[in-house]
Amino acid sequence: RGKQAQQDLLFYSPEMNQRSMARLKLSSELHHALERNELKLFYQAQYDTQNTRIVGAEALIRWQHPSRGFISPAEFIPFAEETGLIVPIGEWVLSEAIGQLAQWDQAGIKLNRLSINLSAQQFKSNLTDLLLKILKQHQIQAQRIELELTESMLMKNDEATLSLLLKLKAAGFSLALDDFGTGYSNLSYLQRFTLDYLKIDQSFIRGLPDNPGSAGIVNAICGIASSLNLRLIAEGVETANQLSFLQKTACDQIQGYLLSRPIPADEFAVLFTRNLEH
Ligand code: C2E
Ligand code: CA
Ligand code: CA
Ligand code: CA
Repeated sequence: RGKQAQQDLLFYSPEMNQRSMARLKLSSELHHALERNELKLFYQAQYDTQNTRIVGAEALIRWQHPSRGFISPAEFIPFAEETGLIVPIGEWVLSEAIGQLAQWDQAGIKLNRLSINLSAQQFKSNLTDLLLKILKQHQIQAQRIELELTESMLMKNDEATLSLLLKLKAAGFSLALDDFGTGYSNLSYLQRFTLDYLKIDQSFIRGLPDNPGSAGIVNAICGIASSLNLRLIAEGVETANQLSFLQKTACDQIQGYLLSRPIPADEFAVLFTRNLEH
């Protein structure tokens, strides 16, 4: 960011001005996206690796922009984080996702677990109370909610982080570490914090089964997980060969386009029901 700011100073130009204008516009549009009901959650199924039964789902946000069409969260979440909009958006995600789980319950769709992504700015001491309030509203048990954290949230390794994690665990939430292996290389936090799941980043799954580097890393992660008593979810499983590789490892669960893409809630209900019948 510092380097970018320096470059902006050195090369201030009409295009630069246009870029800031575009950002300003996006910022005000994203602000309105919530109240205009343009944000949606899609759900991607998570499967037991051995029998491919659906064991959970991950909620993934989408923005249906009126003129630009669908905007990927990879594009607007970092932006929302920079502008602080992630706080109200993140709150909306929590209540929308938990509300959906309650709606599925009422419709007889018995999904055990729903995973929700968190941003660093949501990872504050008031998070537990907010979550508990939403759960109470919808009569959902904390045990059914998995919170996906990133390595950068745990990297600080301080007392505040530790006490928040303990509070979330004590309330019953399941904790998963997202994109495992892509961030910080010091693994001491794995020992200190009480996590339940590691999600193996899709960059390691992509090279399976033939790339010896990917296979080696995935096997090493399986070793870490079993010695620390953590469960594993492999992300981005796209091919049958990747699936059969993972079925020979100790990787508990999988997620990826091979079995299902992220889909709207009503389609997920159909997928879930069909999966039960097989
Ligand atoms: P993520 O949490 O790592 O989510 C996994 C991403 O991989 C999703 O992209 C998903 O659609 C995609 N994916 C799943 N299976 C496959 C596969 O087999 N192949 C490939 N190539 N991709 C696959 P998506 O939905 O575009 O989300 C991108 C990122 O945006 C997420 O990465 C997450 O970091 C962030 N995000 C999404 N929803 C939320 C949210 O509600 N809150 C926050 N804070 N971040 C979110
Ligand atoms: Ca995630
Ligand atoms: Ca991920
Ligand atoms: Ca990611």
